[in-house]
Amino acid sequence: MTDLDRRTMLTTGALALAGAAAHAAPAQPAPKPIFPVPVTTIPIVGESEVFQVRRIYCIGRNYAAHAIERGSDPTREPPFFFQKPTDAIQNVAIGTVADHPYPSLTKNYHHEVELVAALKSGGANIAPENALDHVYGYALGLDMTRRDLQNGMAAEKKPWEIGKSFDHAAVLGPIHPADKTGHFTKGAISLAVNGTVRQSSDLKNMIWSVAEQIAKLSEAFELKAGDIIYSGTPENVGPVVKGDVLLCKLDGLPDMSIRIV
Ligand code: MN
Repeated sequence: MTDLDRRTMLTTGALALAGAAAHAAPAQPAPKPIFPVPVTTIPIVGESEVFQVRRIYCIGRNYAAHAIERGSDPTREPPFFFQKPTDAIQNVAIGTVADHPYPSLTKNYHHEVELVAALKSGGANIAPENALDHVYGYALGLDMTRRDLQNGMAAEKKPWEIGKSFDHAAVLGPIHPADKTGHFTKGAISLAVNGTVRQSSDLKNMIWSVAEQIAKLSEAFELKAGDIIYSGTPENVGPVVKGDVLLCKLDGLPDMSIRIV
């Protein structure tokens, strides 16, 4: 190395340091959004604070009998996932019957009652034995589905998006902290339409438990606080029409009800 090289290096290094110092200027407040967008939150039972939602994950075909009715093999093949947009959440308060709009484009609008887990933390490649440490609480949910559009897209090997990820498609009761309810590994889950039970099963029939769902999801996505997971629906999904009243039940949580309008 010549003296010239050495001088050049020193000068360049000094300039780089000066540049770094310039960039280390006091942090400016984050720029204000030109069009502010509301964040999605879910009420928490017994808390004045709310749960801010980051992402909505859904598990497909997680009860053997439902896997069969949807035409797939109910053996323990790996779970599969899809997402709904965060702002698709419709919060339903305990003791109310919330109006739920019948969506556009469909003539075969289906109910899917599901246990929902809400995460307070996350990570990648979470071990199943540690997975429940990341659960903040649980809620009762409906993965509403434009079945005709879902099936039509599936038949053409296209994404399900339009069948699953539309406005109001993620119906949800409030979150119950797990430190009060415990974790849900078994218990009756059901859905009635106009007083007639349509879906009835037990959480113990899930092919993949909530802990296993978190572990498997975290192999594909880094999970974080604010993520919620719809854990799949039991068999006997079916259509609803305007005027129908849906009543969802899960052992250990208050009922959740909507009216299709
Ligand atoms: Mn579902």
